[in-house]
Amino acid sequence: MNLTVPAPNITDRQFVKPLLCGPGPCDLLPSVVEALTRPTLSPICDELFNVLDDIRTGIQYMFQTRSNTVLAVSGSGHLGMETVITNLVEPNETLLIASRGIWDERALLIAKRRGIKTVVTKVPYTDTFSFDHLEAMLKKVRPTALFITHGDSSTGSMQKIEGLGKLCHKYGALLLVDTVVSISGVPFLMDEWEVDGVYTSTQKALSGPAGISPVAFSARAEEKINKRKSETPFYYDIKLLAVQWNCYGTKKYHHTLSSPLLWALRCCLQELAKETLPVSWERHATVTAHFLKRLQELPVQLLIPKPEDRLATVTTVVLPRGYDYMEFVKYMREKHNILIFAGLGPTEGKALRIGIMGCNSSFKVADAIVDGMADTLRALKKSSL
Ligand SMILES: *Cc1c(COP(=O)(O)O)cnc(C)c1O
Repeated sequence: MNLTVPAPNITDRQFVKPLLCGPGPCDLLPSVVEALTRPTLSPICDELFNVLDDIRTGIQYMFQTRSNTVLAVSGSGHLGMETVITNLVEPNETLLIASRGIWDERALLIAKRRGIKTVVTKVPYTDTFSFDHLEAMLKKVRPTALFITHGDSSTGSMQKIEGLGKLCHKYGALLLVDTVVSISGVPFLMDEWEVDGVYTSTQKALSGPAGISPVAFSARAEEKINKRKSETPFYYDIKLLAVQWNCYGTKKYHHTLSSPLLWALRCCLQELAKETLPVSWERHATVTAHFLKRLQELPVQLLIPKPEDRLATVTTVVLPRGYDYMEFVKYMREKHNILIFAGLGPTEGKALRIGIMGCNSSFKVADAIVDGMADTLRALKKSSL
């Protein structure tokens, strides 16, 4: 046999793990690292279905929903987004997109590729939406659904969701919410706030690995899924996945679920249940308040002007004139082994994005970041400044 491609020389690589303080991924909980090495689950064994049942109850707690259509899709946060949008809005129906960052731009791309009609309504990226604004749009557009991001990691802002479900339902629209970077870090109550479709991901405030994304659908959303005239892509068809995940008493193979990711997600949810939501929310609020207070020692500004719009998990920080954001991030990594991010989408070249979430939401981490930033500001100070 003639091999036309020789065996490559894949050598071991050195990797110094930085403290992960970007807007995601976050560091892993030690118990999650261990969970990742648990035994492989065959697609039809009882152990697998027991794990799926545990995960479903954990997700119901995490989103605060009693809905049955609750499971996790096999992909990162974007797949959660794609699953919620494509299962609830059919081609030629209209999706109203409330846009203030990069994630709603992704929602727009996904919807367009699916042949969904889209209407985008914007606020400046340092702002959030008023309900008056959204009501006027719902009234005018009469969309099938409204898409909105709860915590926006590209801008560091948090949108008020409480009360929005009722408003959407008044105009016959479903409410779809991205909670990827907000869940478990800030309050979110799916049933109480009448949210119809929601998704999150593991690698942000849950301190798990990327690649598996919880989704949940309300009774209204279930009705919409059951009335759907068009098919969704096979891999994330909620009707088929609900059959695999025992949402309605059936346990059937659909595709092979990643055992390490199931064990990891189960562990994240178990840790959250042990800590409890209120304690986790309070921890994130307290640590970030401490971080913001300490930032006052530095010659920096917060990007989001209104305190009530600031997101507890991701803070956007504006550097004094003359500093280069990429250079700042590079120095923090090289000299302090702390990974923070520069801006993305609307905040590119305008702010740092600092994530203090999950297992990194502690005073120790917040202090390490501020101390690192103080040194970096000194080190990179140009003589012309
Ligand atoms: C990180 C993030 C996403 C995307 O998640 P991936 O896991 O990278 O696909 C979506 N929405 C928000 C708000 C995020 O912070």
